Amino acid sequence: MKIVSESTFCLYPISRGNNWGFGGKTPFKDNCIVLDLSMLNRVSEYEESFGTIRITPGVSQGDLSEYLKNKNSKFYLDVTGSGTETSVLGNTLERGIAYNSLRVDSLQSLEVLLPNGVVINTGFSGYLNCDVKNLYQHGIGPELKGLFLQSNLGIVLSATIKLKKRQEKVVSFRISIAETKVGSLIEVISSLLSDGVIDCIAHIGDPLRIRSTKEPILQNSKDFSDNDLKLVLKKLQLIDSESPIWSCLGNIQGPKGLVRAKQKIIKKRMSHIGKVQFYDEDTICLVTTYLNWGPFKNTIKFLRATESLRGLINGNATSEAVKMLFWSPKKKNIVPYKDNGDIDVDKSPSGCIFCVPLTTMNKKGADKLINHFRSFSSKHGLLMGATLNTLNANVLEAVISFHFDPSTEEIQNIHKLFIEFNQELIRDGLFP
Ligand SMILES: Cc1cc2nc3c(=O)[nH]c(=O)nc-3n(C[C@H](O)[C@H](O)[C@H](O)COP(=O)(O)OP(=O)(O)OC[C@H]3O[C@@H](n4cnc5c(N)ncnc54)[C@H](O)[C@@H]3O)c2cc1C
Repeated sequence: MKIVSESTFCLYPISRGNNWGFGGKTPFKDNCIVLDLSMLNRVSEYEESFGTIRITPGVSQGDLSEYLKNKNSKFYLDVTGSGTETSVLGNTLERGIAYNSLRVDSLQSLEVLLPNGVVINTGFSGYLNCDVKNLYQHGIGPELKGLFLQSNLGIVLSATIKLKKRQEKVVSFRISIAETKVGSLIEVISSLLSDGVIDCIAHIGDPLRIRSTKEPILQNSKDFSDNDLKLVLKKLQLIDSESPIWSCLGNIQGPKGLVRAKQKIIKKRMSHIGKVQFYDEDTICLVTTYLNWGPFKNTIKFLRATESLRGLINGNATSEAVKMLFWSPKKKNIVPYKDNGDIDVDKSPSGCIFCVPLTTMNKKGADKLINHFRSFSSKHGLLMGATLNTLNANVLEAVISFHFDPSTEEIQNIHKLFIEFNQELIRDGLFP
């Protein structure tokens, strides 16, 4: 900090630097020194009755999930759809989104190195003998934690976070609907969230986005021939469908009786939109064991190949979705791995960046997002996909992916269009 404060350089800290689709490790301006904190990978202060824990920047989703598994913990880390090797702290500081919660909501306190070399602790975390040291994020007086999220005011050295408690029963729900019905579905999900029926972040994907996630997984699985793959994509209505069919995935967790009651309410409220399917891993296990013959074989192979994606809702981190970075609609790309077993993302021959606007959690907001993304992609002939994530009862997020060939001219062109698209969204109230 001393050297930098006496120079013309800036420090750009990264925790594990896996911010793929948002710039990776690259600082957003020149003259920066990248400060890689990935070797600070210590887990401490695990509080097993309340489920809080201290992590440093290098602790990955995979590391923390493993740590909790080894402790036989009744708590789990709510994971994101990104890789096992991504940083829990880095993602939280960027206000990342996990499968059942906003990472930032789990943040209890931060330990921060300020530019003048002073280290501060937010909330009660600096008071060593305080009974609620890592339990009451607000502390006394002004709340400082927020100053260090998506900011350049300090380097975060560690954080305490609140983990999620494992529940007796976890059931997933899925509904497939025409694009014209997405707005109505969003209204129903908003009511389910505000009435406390669900407490997850439902993901509603358009066909291109679902295809770009699933296809590279299946292409890289030895069980799928090109023909099998085509049949599965067709069955899932991801190709050759007359109009786009979106698919919504969410989950309900809690004691068995409560989950059953919630299933009934969800079914009833969604009945005017389409048919909801409920499933849990026990049912899928039965199906894959007893129906593995004749006409079901392809479906069973698909369920097996995508098993780890289903585990995301239970805090099982996986890098399967990261294969999406290798997706191309024209050719099959084999996913390369580094010596440590991580996917070698930098070797991808395909380009992908994400634009993440927010809007209101109702039909008006959803229609606005869909209209912008559809008209921009057709105006510029771009390959774009979208997932709508229900952040809470009031706010809807879209993760809009641009897929392109990363030749030098195309990168420049896409970056220009990407900025233009963000500006267009902001003019219409859709801030990133
Ligand atoms: C297929 C795919 C799926 C994805 N799914 C998700 C998802 O579900 N949810 C989601 O949120 N993201 C997702 N991402 C985006 C991204 O991969 C994750 O957000 C990832 O966690 C970010 O990388 P990281 O954790 O290594 O953080 P880093 O890259 O280390 O940090 C992110 C940024 O935070 C700041 N920062 C980091 N550490 C510090 C520090 N110690 N002090 C101060 N500032 C710091 C820096 O500006 C840094 O650039 C996805 C990406 C892909 C490609």
